[in-house]
Amino acid sequence: MRCRPVYIARMHPAVFLDRDDTLIANRSLDTPDGARAGDLADPDRVVLLPGALEACRLLRRAAFRLIVFTNQGVVARGGATPSQVDAVHDRLRELLVDEEGQPLLDDILYCPYHPEGSVPEFTREHPWRKPAPGMILHAAEVHDLDLTRSWVVGDQQRDIDAGVRAAIAPQRCLQIGRDVPDLLAGAIHIVRANAPTARTSASIRLSDPTLRADTPLCETVESSARALAERVGVRLLDLAWRDDRLEIEVDGPQIVAIGLAAELRRTTDAWYRARAGRALWHEDRP
Ligand SMILES: [Mg+2]
Repeated sequence: MRCRPVYIARMHPAVFLDRDDTLIANRSLDTPDGARAGDLADPDRVVLLPGALEACRLLRRAAFRLIVFTNQGVVARGGATPSQVDAVHDRLRELLVDEEGQPLLDDILYCPYHPEGSVPEFTREHPWRKPAPGMILHAAEVHDLDLTRSWVVGDQQRDIDAGVRAAIAPQRCLQIGRDVPDLLAGAIHIVRANAPTARTSASIRLSDPTLRADTPLCETVESSARALAERVGVRLLDLAWRDDRLEIEVDGPQIVAIGLAAELRRTTDAWYRARAGRALWHEDRP
């Protein structure tokens, strides 16, 4: 007697994240002598793009698995060894952690193959090389992912094509520069698509209550909040000081309010530290 196949629902939605110019800077990096533009073999040159950390934290709070999937034809061309790529990815894991220092990434998959390489071992076409869907299909199997509820974010058409070829709905494949301006805007789009519209708020507190009397400073923070909300596509419903707290009210789920407040806190704190040599915000998280 033949058994009927048993179909077990895959449980976890994921966001597949391209690496270069989605999570970390690549095109804008200086190119060391002898290296090809965009090749990255040195972990010390890993720089997160603005908003990338908060984007990953936001997606984790929304219970998505996070999988990085990246073509690294640099290995086939001899510009980096697999162990150098691994070191870059170890650095990426170190940088992408939650507020407790726990890693945010569930996996980093990369394809070292390229049909026009110079290292024989890696010179060929491969089902993992984007726009082929191999990395997504492999991750779905290994991590028990539900691709019907998953998303892709990347800056290249091949990232989008890989998602669509893995049967992820085209409207769930977001191209940076076409659909969203950056990864944080993409994360907010994803979270809002998964949650009903709501009016929620989060607040951040000044490190020193007397700073509230510094009107130009407070106005700079407010205009930064408005610019950030506009950039990432969040409707700001209210922005109000309650004593030494700035309360940010948004049209979206709570985690969007928290994410926006956290990113505003990070960017304005860096600006103020450079100017005044001390923290702008209290250590309380939004
Ligand atoms: Mg890219």
